[in-house]
Amino acid sequence: MLPNDDIRARLGLRPVINVSGTMTSLGASIVVPQAIETVASVLGQWTEMSDLQRTASRTIARLTGSEAGCVTASCSAGITLAVAAAMTGRDLAAIERLPDTSGLRNEVVVQAGHLVSYGAPIDQAIRLSGAKVVPVGQATSAYAYQLAGAITENTAAAVYVASHHVVEYGQIPLANFIATAHAKGVPVIVDAASEYDLTGFLAAGADVVLYSGHKFLGGPTSGIIAGSRALVRAAYLQNLGIGRGMKVGKEGIAGVIAALEAWENRDHAGIRARERKALDVWAKTLQGRPGIAARITPDPTGNPLDRLRIDIDPNIARITAWDLADRLAAGDPPIIVRDHEAEHNYLFLDPCNLHPDEEAVVARRVAEELDHAAAAPAPLVSSFAERAMRLEAGLLNWPD
Ligand SMILES: *Cc1c(COP(=O)(O)O)cnc(C)c1O
Repeated sequence: MLPNDDIRARLGLRPVINVSGTMTSLGASIVVPQAIETVASVLGQWTEMSDLQRTASRTIARLTGSEAGCVTASCSAGITLAVAAAMTGRDLAAIERLPDTSGLRNEVVVQAGHLVSYGAPIDQAIRLSGAKVVPVGQATSAYAYQLAGAITENTAAAVYVASHHVVEYGQIPLANFIATAHAKGVPVIVDAASEYDLTGFLAAGADVVLYSGHKFLGGPTSGIIAGSRALVRAAYLQNLGIGRGMKVGKEGIAGVIAALEAWENRDHAGIRARERKALDVWAKTLQGRPGIAARITPDPTGNPLDRLRIDIDPNIARITAWDLADRLAAGDPPIIVRDHEAEHNYLFLDPCNLHPDEEAVVARRVAEELDHAAAAPAPLVSSFAERAMRLEAGLLNWPD
């Protein structure tokens, strides 16, 4: 896109380059052209929404192997609606009564190590439906016997989270989680918001799987609910109740259909090659720099996506990972890196959301900052604790 076509200037926004991943705070992802065209053409038309959702159901079923599917506002909304569906089924009176769950099974079992935040707490998305969260095991260890023991006659569903956010060891393997829940007649809902695998969770026996439409798929902001016909139908019917506040528009539904169709035809190998080229450019830029170790690292949950991990020894490089992240974010153009583990003095560059040629800009800016640190009169080493407090305080001042 040419700079003078850039809508961001008109909206008073900085022209950020995103090397942090698909981030809600940065607008999630670059929406694929097919979805942009579809959204633009549907916005000016009347659409019969239940028919549009029927079309979405068929597309979702084709891509995921589910019996049915529907679209909602977000994956987070999908968690709330799928849990509500497991509690109410098709009982419209119960649907209207939520979040009052009197008379319904209302407990949801989740491994403690899966009770994470994706920007909001996952347990809250469950509780929004009126359900009660029953944690299984401890943060870093959970066993099938603990899951079995937590299931009672009040259990409505078992939620499993597939994500880099969850504790990455000591959790119940998906197959055992599903087998244990199913042995007790409890449906399994998988939150797979960011997972590229559209078929594996249902093939493994999950009853419902949830995806974000706006992450790897490159759709507009939306959530996908895929699974058994009965549960998807019950989730859809929540639009007559708590789902109303999670409404998705015709642009979201039509856009996600287009994004799913584009995914089927996407040149996945070509995209990987482009991402690899960016990683190689960055690795080459960093090679031989004192106090810097860069290596290409696979995605922790097995998505077909590599990132460049940059480990920094601040005693030699004279800058910390968080100071480098902050200086890049404040620079021109602003570059947002993946810095959620920066306290360990490493950060990642994620190539999955680049516009053409942006990798060269990123390489240049990283090199400039490292050169600057090497030559600065004093090391660029700030307090991580103070930075954390500053970020927290900054949150509270919006819109100022
Ligand atoms: C992003 C994410 C969500 C939330 O998805 P939205 O579609 O943005 O609501 C939920 N769970 C996990 C694991 C995520 O990564």
